[in-house]
Order: sequence, then structure tokens, then C-alpha cells
Amino acid sequence: MVLGVLGLVVQAMRGRAERIAPTLAPPSREGCTRGWQRGSCKKRTCEICGLTWARDWRRGMFENLKSLGVEVAFASVTPPGQAELPYDGRVCAHLGPHKHGKGYGCRVNGDALAEWSRDLSKRWKRLHNAARNATRREMGRCLPLACRAWEPQSRGPGHVHLVFALHRPGDLELVKCYLAHVARLAPRHKFGFPGEKEGVSLQLMTGERAAAYVSTYFVKGKGGKPTLQENARNPHLPRLLIWVAPALTRKTRVTMRNLRRCRQLWAVRMRLPPAPSWSGIELARIVLLAGPWPARAP
Ligand SMILES: [Zn+2]
Ligand SMILES: [Zn+2]
Repeated sequence: MVLGVLGLVVQAMRGRAERIAPTLAPPSREGCTRGWQRGSCKKRTCEICGLTWARDWRRGMFENLKSLGVEVAFASVTPPGQAELPYDGRVCAHLGPHKHGKGYGCRVNGDALAEWSRDLSKRWKRLHNAARNATRREMGRCLPLACRAWEPQSRGPGHVHLVFALHRPGDLELVKCYLAHVARLAPRHKFGFPGEKEGVSLQLMTGERAAAYVSTYFVKGKGGKPTLQENARNPHLPRLLIWVAPALTRKTRVTMRNLRRCRQLWAVRMRLPPAPSWSGIELARIVLLAGPWPARAP
């Protein structure tokens, strides 16, 4: 009996190898060879690896925000206006007299932009924490962020998108209170105005819609928006462009690291590189996430 089962397994293995072998050499996939031992370099600024990185972020965004299963509040905090970030008249001088704006392709003065962006991450953290503390003082509690994503405005400086999950009835009031405090404290930290008007700048939507809104431009860019790779090369944006709450990824296990491992597992299943040295439990987790064999390339 045992021998019979063993025979079947051996047969299955052999069948699999035969079926895959002809397409395997040379590997049909065009990959990056700039890394160690001609492997992929995994740099987000690399043309090939950066695309995979952007795809992973899009998938991670969708799976994690979808897993919330409740409505989310979506808001954005913008950079300050012209007083702090003046336009560079030379960029659009050829257009003649006009009111600087998005439609003309006007850009913020380079020096002002560099100065404002230099400590953007730090200032944002301070503003966010101050607004959270103020909310806690006023309402007794505050809402944790589900996700945060930085994106440049067309004039140059970055703005940040915020997603809050609304689990309990009073949660929307907490978000409104938080945004009111962000608005109050924003000038102190050289930020502009966060909209708090429901339906306009504060929008309620499903987690999936929020993920779609934030990630549409990631891989291909959209409506003139730069791709996530281009944003990764943008020196005026924070290095951590996107952040998803660990509370979410702990449940879904869809992290950038695990998505990379799903791809590794796929390669192992395709008999490309040697098997990784993961612990049994880690292997089980990745297999669970990647799905049963044969799996499509992620
Ligand atoms: Zn690469
Ligand atoms: Zn202009």
C-alpha cells in the first residue's frame, strides 16, 4: 500500500518534471540579472524589479484594504499654497500672463520645493501625532491609520492620502475630529489644508475602492500621474511611499516580503533556483498564501 502511494508520488513528480522541463531551459522569462550571482537586483528603482515591486504594492494594497470588510474614510493632506511654495515663473513663461495652476503645467520653484521636502517625513509625523493626541484628549480615543500613501502633486510637492477603517458607529466622528486638528495644526508644520467636508475631501468608500484610488497609477501611471517607480526616484517624496498598518498585514499575511516569497516559491515549483531554506512553518505560510501547485506566476 505504502509502496503504491510512493509509486504514485514518484510518477507524479516525474510527470511534472517532464512536462515542465522543455520550457525551462533557457528560462522563458526575461528577468533582471543585475543582482548577486546574476540574480535579480530587487531594487525599486530598477526597470524590471521596480515594476514587480509596484505590482506587489498594488496587490498588497488591494488584499489588505479588502480584508477590512467595512467602509473606510479617505482623506488627503496637501502641501501649503503659493506663499510657502512659490511657482517657478520660468517654467511656464512661454504661456504669457496666466494664473499659475495645474492646467498650465506650472511647477513650484526648485529651491523652495527642496527646502520644504527636506524634512517632510519628520514634519508629517509630528503633525499626525499632535492631531492624534488632540483627538484622544477631546474624544477619549482616536482611530488608527489603516494605510498611508504619498504622491506628488502636479506642481511638484507631495501630498499624503490617508485611509481609516470605520468599524464602530462613532468612528467617523473621530476621523472628522482628527482632520479638524490636522487643519488647525497644519500651518505650524508647513502643511496645507486637509479637507474635512464629508463627500468632498473626506470620502466614504469600500476598502477596495480606496485601494483602487490609491494604486491605479502604481504600475502604468494614470492621467499624467507618474508611476510608483518614478515616485521612488523622486527626491522630494518620503522614502517610505506607502505604509499599510501591521495590524492588517498580520491578519492577511500579505506583506511585500511574503509576496516576494510567493514568487520565490513559484520559481522553485518551476524548478528554476534551488529550494529556499525556510523553516517548516514559514514554508507552510507561504504555500498557503501562494495557493496550491501549479500556481500562476504572481
Ligand atoms: Zn533589477
Ligand atoms: Zn504658470
